[in-house]
Amino acid sequence: MAYQTVNPYTNEVVQKYNNSTPEEIEAALAQAYDLYQSWRDDPVASRTKYLHKLSQYFTTHVDELAQVLVTDMGKLYSEAQGEVAICADIAEYYAQNAERLLAPKSIPTIAGQAQVLNRPYGVLMAVEPWNFPYYQIMRVFAPYFAAGDPMVLKHASNTPGSALAFEKAVQAVGAPAGSFKNLFLSYEQVSDVIADERIAGVCLTGSERGGRSVAKEAGQNLKKSTMELGGNDVFVVLDDANLAEAEKIAASSRLYNCGQVCTSSKRFIVTEKNYAHFLENLKQQFAAVKMGDPMDPETTLAPMCSKKNKNKLQEQVDEAIAAGATVYYGNEPVDLPGQFFQPTILTDIDRDNPAYYAEMFGPVAQVYKVKDEAEAIKLANDSHLGLGGIVFSGDPQHGAEVAAKIETGMVFVNTYLSTLPELPFGGVKQSGYGRELGDDCIYQFVNQELVVKNPQAGLPDNRFGGLIAPGLIKD
Ligand code: NAP
Repeated sequence: MAYQTVNPYTNEVVQKYNNSTPEEIEAALAQAYDLYQSWRDDPVASRTKYLHKLSQYFTTHVDELAQVLVTDMGKLYSEAQGEVAICADIAEYYAQNAERLLAPKSIPTIAGQAQVLNRPYGVLMAVEPWNFPYYQIMRVFAPYFAAGDPMVLKHASNTPGSALAFEKAVQAVGAPAGSFKNLFLSYEQVSDVIADERIAGVCLTGSERGGRSVAKEAGQNLKKSTMELGGNDVFVVLDDANLAEAEKIAASSRLYNCGQVCTSSKRFIVTEKNYAHFLENLKQQFAAVKMGDPMDPETTLAPMCSKKNKNKLQEQVDEAIAAGATVYYGNEPVDLPGQFFQPTILTDIDRDNPAYYAEMFGPVAQVYKVKDEAEAIKLANDSHLGLGGIVFSGDPQHGAEVAAKIETGMVFVNTYLSTLPELPFGGVKQSGYGRELGDDCIYQFVNQELVVKNPQAGLPDNRFGGLIAPGLIKD
């Protein structure tokens, strides 16, 4: 039985679920496709009203929804409430902006009266991860629902409770049947669904490994896809940085969500001048965390999401040490039954250490000492991933110039890397392609249908039979 909730704090198997049957999958696809056909004739406003209601639902059911996250993947309750709140904001953002974004756009042309219509694209298959079980769904659901694309979901196998809670929310606000359907699919079933001719596109958030497999299926079937994959984000502290400010957010940039964030700061790159102080301060902050019950407001570090992920992180740390890394702090067993991992700081990681290029998805910080800014940029870019990043500089303009030299999708200067509905989210290199959130993401899954009207009664004189614009014809 692949889909199950195992509470990572108590290790209790809370609930197991059977995979969807072929009949359930067929019914979901048929319903979603019928809905797509009817949405092609419906105005955007007929859907945005449900996004308003969904936003309200997330606001009024915050505690109930947050509790599901805690049970499914062990997130701190306060962080779970924050995740529910950002979901409400995302739904509201597209409720308020989708009509504007999807309005027809006129193009000045000698061909006639040209407009690009933003029409529904078709049924989408979403494959999502467990680390922000609602937020990851909402990032793709809200804009594409507004655009007229029904969605079927394959959620992570360890967060089935969250998948069902999201589905319940969409149903509760009265969205048409077929708008959103959770399916408990095996990998093989995901491939079959992607190949089905009623599926128009695929969006995945997850690891490089998962992204590679699903993108291959999408490519083979000529389905458009977006991939939001891993990150090995840097936290750069330059010579002139306000060190106290950088230190204030360094630990939380690594430990938020127990370090299980694609855009967690994973590689701290600090110039010689600040290195010793920064390292010692990070150690003190890591040592001060309080591990325990995620529901307890006193707890500051939650368990990891599963035993499997904790074991994988431990293997990565062990390999790093075997290859010469120094444990500056941590890496001791935690005497609690849940899947806790002591915050750990690794230094002296050479380029041939497997940790150098690895994404460590948990509370482990790699700290690097560099001579100067040029070396910091070189090290930051020596990664096959390019998702986010943070730069600290005494001069914000200079920080922004350094940020622009870092090959990545998002960089924040002198502040937290945050996600908001209006900010596009995504990466370059093996961190994937496409963007979620912001205004432009919506166009990834709309049919930008060109309609050109000839304003005259008769056909324009065109000896190339209309295949070439009249203005291009030369005698
Ligand atoms: P993962 O193993 O790739 O899983 C993500 C989703 O893909 C899950 O639903 C998983 O299902 C599914 N999946 C994996 N392989 C598949 C295949 N061959 N066919 C069909 N479905 C497949 O990722 P993860 O390790 O759980 O999540 C953490 C990763 O996600 C990290 O690398 C993190 O950086 C990245 N992430 C990126 C972003 C972003 O916006 N760029 C945001 C959050 C997380 P199962 O659970 O059943 O395996």
